Amino acid sequence: MKKIQSVRGMPDVLPGSSARWQWLETRAKAILAGWGYREIRLPVLEHTGLFARSVGESTDIVAKEMYTFTDRSGDSVTLRPEGTAGCVRACEEHGLLYNQTQRLWYAGPMFRYERPQKGRYRQFEQIGVECFGFEGPDIDAELIIMTAELWRTLGVADAVTLELNTLGSPEARAAYREALVEWLTPRREELDADSQRRLLQNPLRIFDSKVAKTQEIVADAPSFMDYLDAGSAAHFDGLKGLLDAAGVRYVVNPRIVRGLDYYTRTVFEWTTDRLGAQGTVCAGGRYDGLVAQLGGRTTPAVGFAMGIERVLLLADEVGALPDHIDREVDVYLLSLDDADLAAALSLSRSLRAEVPGLRLQMHCGGGKPKTRLKRADASGAEVALILGESEVAAGTIAVKALRAGGDQRTLTREALLEELRALVAVRTEGRDGK
Ligand code: ATP
Ligand code: MG
Repeated sequence: MKKIQSVRGMPDVLPGSSARWQWLETRAKAILAGWGYREIRLPVLEHTGLFARSVGESTDIVAKEMYTFTDRSGDSVTLRPEGTAGCVRACEEHGLLYNQTQRLWYAGPMFRYERPQKGRYRQFEQIGVECFGFEGPDIDAELIIMTAELWRTLGVADAVTLELNTLGSPEARAAYREALVEWLTPRREELDADSQRRLLQNPLRIFDSKVAKTQEIVADAPSFMDYLDAGSAAHFDGLKGLLDAAGVRYVVNPRIVRGLDYYTRTVFEWTTDRLGAQGTVCAGGRYDGLVAQLGGRTTPAVGFAMGIERVLLLADEVGALPDHIDREVDVYLLSLDDADLAAALSLSRSLRAEVPGLRLQMHCGGGKPKTRLKRADASGAEVALILGESEVAAGTIAVKALRAGGDQRTLTREALLEELRALVAVRTEGRDGK
């Protein structure tokens, strides 16, 4: 019988690499908590209309990437392709935006029917952040400075660039849109098919095209900066000033328009040249119109989402992952004979209690001493702790180095505790004291 395999583009994260995810998540969550952001947990399934109304009918996401199906009661539902729409929906539904500000984050899988390749999957994970009720550029700056802090903590800061742009007010955008369509229409035949379609539905998105010829054409298009409204210009200057003061470097890139329809004013992307075509690791911006568009009171809002897989690929690429990140077990504890099983079990429990963070796996399944030692080796542990009759009698422990040379020593309990603490420190602090 043919075995069933995973759905294309929906990769498994196996035990050998889940530690990398935990490494990133732990650091990201610590930063978010440290900046006063609170977690919101949202369903992965929403009514299809939510995305059509928020992300926008003419976007790639809604037009061709959504996993949409009819459930058993005949309702059209969609696996969330992004988190902002659901977050706004939940905030409105529970009155979280009424007379108050919010700083929120969420993490979890998103679903888009795309062509799978390195850094691009059909199920992928995002950490997303959304802030509501703040009008000024201070919160835009806070979000960006917080992401910069995360890159520093992860050790990838030197490999990413902040690209910044403003999309202005809806009115300024409308005026620009008109000018752009007027300029592009005579050049319509030279554009790729997707861009020709966008010319009618969503012309600004043509800047987002990945087709070289199209990029060449739009390079000479009218500049949005000539249409920018005074309020948005002041907002943008305020943001740049705060980033300058904080020492966060950026490049203003007028071609950053983002793939989603709901953005206004600030938009930004953190990009890298180390991951080929999938170079955007984090993207976001301001969406002051979205809450009202979904039926709420007009509420200023700004947020971003980062793609975890891409950040992990980047961390691996630049050697930022700690040396021992994939070591899941520090120590393997075995008795040579089942007669000493109770003593081994008791020792394992007291070692875990006395050495915080210690990962100790206890031998189970019996077998000859040689079999037990083989299992110790296969566990990936750095050292095996061996209890034989003589050790139990003397209150000592035999320690065998499994990776470095295989030498064996007999230690007192105190000496053992000290070595185990050092072992844990090396793993958790990693290379270069990271
Ligand atoms: P791209 O231009 O790469 O398709 P996007 O503009 O569609 O990205 P957003 O909707 O802004 O992406 O999502 C935010 C982040 O989520 C992206 O910057 C990226 O890191 C990640 N991301 C988006 N789509 C995927 C995917 N299919 N697989 C893995 N990560 C993704
Ligand atoms: Mg995309």
